[in-house]
Amino acid sequence: MTDSQGGELHFNIERSVNAMPDAERNERLKDPGFGTLFTDHMAMVRYTEGKGWHDAQVCERKPLSLDPATAVLHYAQEIFEGMKAYGLSNGEAALFRPEQNARRFQKSARRMAMPEVPERLFLQAVNHMVDIDRAWIPNMDGGALYLRPFMFASEAFLGVRPAKEYLFLVIACSVGAYFKGGAKAVTIWASENYSRAAPGGTGAAKCGGNYAASLPAQAEAIAQDCDQVVFLDATEKKWVEELGGMNLFFVMNDNTVITPPLTGTILPGITRDSLMQLLRDDGLEVVEQPYSFEQWRNDAQSGKLLETLACGTAAVVTAVGTVKSADGAFTIGSGEPGPVANRMRNRLVDIQTGKANDPHGWFVRV
Ligand SMILES: *Cc1c(COP(=O)(O)O)cnc(C)c1O
Repeated sequence: MTDSQGGELHFNIERSVNAMPDAERNERLKDPGFGTLFTDHMAMVRYTEGKGWHDAQVCERKPLSLDPATAVLHYAQEIFEGMKAYGLSNGEAALFRPEQNARRFQKSARRMAMPEVPERLFLQAVNHMVDIDRAWIPNMDGGALYLRPFMFASEAFLGVRPAKEYLFLVIACSVGAYFKGGAKAVTIWASENYSRAAPGGTGAAKCGGNYAASLPAQAEAIAQDCDQVVFLDATEKKWVEELGGMNLFFVMNDNTVITPPLTGTILPGITRDSLMQLLRDDGLEVVEQPYSFEQWRNDAQSGKLLETLACGTAAVVTAVGTVKSADGAFTIGSGEPGPVANRMRNRLVDIQTGKANDPHGWFVRV
């Protein structure tokens, strides 16, 4: 069936006959880790030029068989999303602003010359996955079902042009708290050798290629005993942009919070957008303005900067304790998570898990 009603399709649902037995799953769910414990099913929809989206299904999670000339393997026409379904105390599940993921997926698709997945179809696929694999949501603090919608060029050809065939899939994995042993401040490495995104490039799109290109910088960070990389702008190597997968906020001692503006080289995080709102709800003034690495060091040293927060779906809100670069290191505040980081993390998690009221309508029951 091709899409007719606002992108909605009928999904053919076939339960896996190889699903993990309950006892084994419950055992594995005691320590799910992050990104390794996959659920029993996957959602998949095909796109063919001229025909549109068709053949929507939920089936057993299984390997894909691809022709060696499949376009994505050569020219990386691929995008993805990352979102979480949270378990509620009554056994139900909830998503957090899922329509934002659907819309960002459409923007990423346009940047990579791919067809857009209709918002309705995206949400259908995600909801089906939460529904069928609900038992995989770990029943623990910080536990969630991490959903990974993604799309790639599945046409077999070696010419350089947008493909005529695509696959849109949603897979899921059970995840525990991102940082084991509670939230501690991270140490980050400012790379001088690598850029993440250049003007006119793909920095605002959630595409696999951005991540591939960030791996040597991440390896450099690990070699420097750091947890993450912070990327500076590609042109002047002066302005602080973001981490490999998290946006940044700078909490100052004058009731203002600075976050770098979305000028095309920064990924528009949904956690970033939510955090701006929650900080404003708290009476803080949030300004989107460029912030230089030099200013960051000076403000940390003068005490004008109280906290630096990194945020994203995976780790929610994390404090940055120490920043290292080739010129040396500096510490922010005490080097430990500060009150704003702790308060904002709790506020977000409480909304996501239905424990706090939801003034902005972000909480979506599945
Ligand atoms: C996904 C991502 C983020 C965080 O986005 P959220 O919607 O908050 O999860 C930040 N930066 C990059 C580069 C990302 O890929």
